[in-house]
Amino acid sequence: MTKPQAQFIRNLLLAEKLDLLLVFGLPNIRYLCGFTGTDGVLLISADVSLFLTDSRYIEQAQEQVSADHICCYNNKLRAVVDELSKRGGRRVGFDATAVSVALYEELAGLATDSLDWCPLTTQLRALRGVKTKNEIVALKSAANLNQQAFNTVLPQIRPGVTELEIAMELEFALKRLGGETNAFDFIVASGIRGALPHGVASEKKLEAGELVTIDFGTRMDGYYSDETVTLAIGEVDRKLRQIFNIVLEAHDSALASIRPGMAICDLDAVARDFISLQGYGEYFGHGLGHGVGLEVHEYPAVSSRSDQKVLEGMVFTVEPGIYIPGIGGVRIEDTVVVTADGFETLTSIPKRFKQLGL
Ligand code: ZN
Ligand code: ZN
Repeated sequence: MTKPQAQFIRNLLLAEKLDLLLVFGLPNIRYLCGFTGTDGVLLISADVSLFLTDSRYIEQAQEQVSADHICCYNNKLRAVVDELSKRGGRRVGFDATAVSVALYEELAGLATDSLDWCPLTTQLRALRGVKTKNEIVALKSAANLNQQAFNTVLPQIRPGVTELEIAMELEFALKRLGGETNAFDFIVASGIRGALPHGVASEKKLEAGELVTIDFGTRMDGYYSDETVTLAIGEVDRKLRQIFNIVLEAHDSALASIRPGMAICDLDAVARDFISLQGYGEYFGHGLGHGVGLEVHEYPAVSSRSDQKVLEGMVFTVEPGIYIPGIGGVRIEDTVVVTADGFETLTSIPKRFKQLGL
């Protein structure tokens, strides 16, 4: 664990009066001990850490994991329970958002000692909220792949090509460039489909006079990219051009307002109030953004409901949109890192209005 990580865990153990912490969520496991496999559990007390995994991963764990002990299990929950009784702790915290009700019941049913289970939700959410320099390097590399892949595919974005073809070309380009996996099912939504904020690519062909919204991302060294561009296929009518300009201004002014210490809900309000003032408030239904890191959607949520503050080192998206049923939509998204006096964008595809030649 790095120093800040160890400090966070120490504070958590103290604040929640925990004897032990069980970590089941893979992103948290990776963050805290370096393991990149898909099965394991991390057990942490004030003075010792133990990583448990199955036989498929034991060799990998010995290379990757920074923990005091690494053990192999046949039966995960039985092994966890055995360790808990061996260590004699009573109050056990666990990352409840990574544990299903069924898993919890099985675990509690196996434990013979009278353990006091403490499900942790909000107490853990800020664990990965502020990124280290190394994390920002990985996030930047992932964002750079977006730009390179986009430039490769851009000449193919023209009338007659289907949304799915564009999504596939982007996927191939990202993989060729070294992207580990898609961040999500890419959104390519053209024409009236642009009114669907999550309109995954379909068989629909692009047509002249439409806007097309492309939302895509990849992963490098475990860290994700997430970015959205909206392009004009030839000349578009005044209404579409107008909503594009409003979304771009909302995006730009939200970015320009970012400062450490400001309330996240105020950042959301910069974009939302501007869009409302232009008369399109009801067409911007989602939050302004979300944290990006080892998960493509993670803490902090950038929304009007947030009670958190913007902190230096946070990485999140700014992605206002307007979606008008029957007409179309626009979303513009960048991923940024908060600096001491503002922000730096990690994503780098230009967001100004771009009209593709036919
Ligand atoms: Zn996105
Ligand atoms: Zn996003």
